Amino acid sequence: MQRTQGRCPECGESVIVEVTEGEPGKVMEHGCEARACEYPDCSVIALKEEMVQFAGGEWYCLGHGLLPDVVAKGEARERRKT
Ligand SMILES: [Zn+2]
Ligand SMILES: [Zn+2]
Repeated sequence: MQRTQGRCPECGESVIVEVTEGEPGKVMEHGCEARACEYPDCSVIALKEEMVQFAGGEWYCLGHGLLPDVVAKGEARERRKT
Protein backbone atom coordinates (compact mmCIF):
# COMPACT_ATOMS: atom_id res chain seq x y z
CA MET A 1 0.00 0.00 0.00
CA GLN A 2 1.20 3.47 -0.91
CA ARG A 3 0.19 6.93 0.16
CA THR A 4 0.07 9.66 -2.37
CA GLN A 5 -1.20 13.20 -2.65
CA GLY A 6 -4.51 13.31 -4.45
CA ARG A 7 -7.70 15.20 -4.66
CA CYS A 8 -11.04 14.36 -3.07
CA PRO A 9 -13.48 13.68 -5.91
CA GLU A 10 -16.30 15.15 -3.85
CA CYS A 11 -15.06 18.41 -2.33
CA GLY A 12 -11.94 18.99 -4.41
CA GLU A 13 -9.59 19.33 -1.41
CA SER A 14 -6.08 18.02 -1.84
CA VAL A 15 -5.86 14.98 0.41
CA ILE A 16 -3.81 11.87 1.13
CA VAL A 17 -4.95 8.91 -0.93
CA GLU A 18 -4.08 5.33 -0.04
CA VAL A 19 -3.36 3.35 -3.14
CA THR A 20 -3.39 -0.44 -3.09
CA GLU A 21 -2.52 -2.28 -6.26
CA GLY A 22 -5.55 -3.56 -8.08
CA GLU A 23 -7.95 -1.47 -5.99
CA PRO A 24 -9.42 1.98 -6.33
CA GLY A 25 -7.64 4.68 -4.31
CA LYS A 26 -9.01 5.34 -0.83
CA VAL A 27 -9.36 8.97 0.23
CA MET A 28 -8.28 9.55 3.84
CA GLU A 29 -10.39 11.40 6.42
CA HIS A 30 -10.10 15.10 5.82
CA GLY A 31 -13.11 16.97 7.21
CA CYS A 32 -14.84 16.71 3.90
CA GLU A 33 -17.08 19.65 3.04
CA ALA A 34 -19.14 17.58 0.63
CA ARG A 35 -22.38 15.91 1.59
CA ALA A 36 -24.48 13.28 -0.19
CA CYS A 37 -28.20 13.73 -0.78
CA GLU A 38 -30.22 11.24 1.27
CA TYR A 39 -33.13 11.10 -1.11
CA PRO A 40 -33.62 7.52 -2.35
CA ASP A 41 -31.72 6.86 -5.57
CA CYS A 42 -30.28 10.37 -5.66
CA SER A 43 -26.56 10.33 -6.24
CA VAL A 44 -25.91 14.06 -5.87
CA ILE A 45 -22.85 14.90 -3.79
CA ALA A 46 -22.08 18.58 -3.36
CA LEU A 47 -20.50 21.06 -1.01
CA LYS A 48 -22.49 21.98 2.10
CA GLU A 49 -23.27 25.42 0.76
CA GLU A 50 -25.04 23.84 -2.19
CA MET A 51 -27.05 21.45 -0.02
CA VAL A 52 -29.97 21.75 2.41
CA GLN A 53 -29.60 20.40 5.95
CA PHE A 54 -32.56 19.41 8.07
CA ALA A 55 -32.87 19.52 11.84
CA GLY A 56 -32.32 15.77 12.05
CA GLY A 57 -28.94 16.15 10.36
CA GLU A 58 -29.94 14.84 6.94
CA TRP A 59 -28.60 16.52 3.86
CA TYR A 60 -30.49 16.90 0.61
CA CYS A 61 -29.59 18.46 -2.69
CA LEU A 62 -31.39 21.66 -3.65
CA GLY A 63 -33.65 19.73 -5.98
CA HIS A 64 -34.87 17.32 -3.29
CA GLY A 65 -34.50 19.42 -0.13
CA LEU A 66 -37.26 21.72 -1.29
CA LEU A 67 -39.76 19.00 -2.20
CA PRO A 68 -42.90 19.31 -0.04
CA ASP A 69 -42.81 15.68 1.12
CA VAL A 70 -39.17 15.92 2.15
CA VAL A 71 -39.73 19.22 3.97
CA ALA A 72 -42.78 17.78 5.77
CA LYS A 73 -40.77 14.75 6.88
CA GLY A 74 -38.00 16.93 8.24
CA GLU A 75 -40.43 19.08 10.17
CA ALA A 76 -42.31 16.12 11.60
CA ARG A 77 -39.09 14.62 12.90
CA GLU A 78 -38.08 17.90 14.48
CA ARG A 79 -41.41 18.22 16.24
CA ARG A 80 -41.19 14.72 17.71
CA LYS A 81 -37.78 15.40 19.17
CA THR A 82 -38.78 18.50 21.14
ZN1 LIG B 1 -13.70 15.70 0.47
ZN1 LIG C 1 -31.14 14.74 -4.21
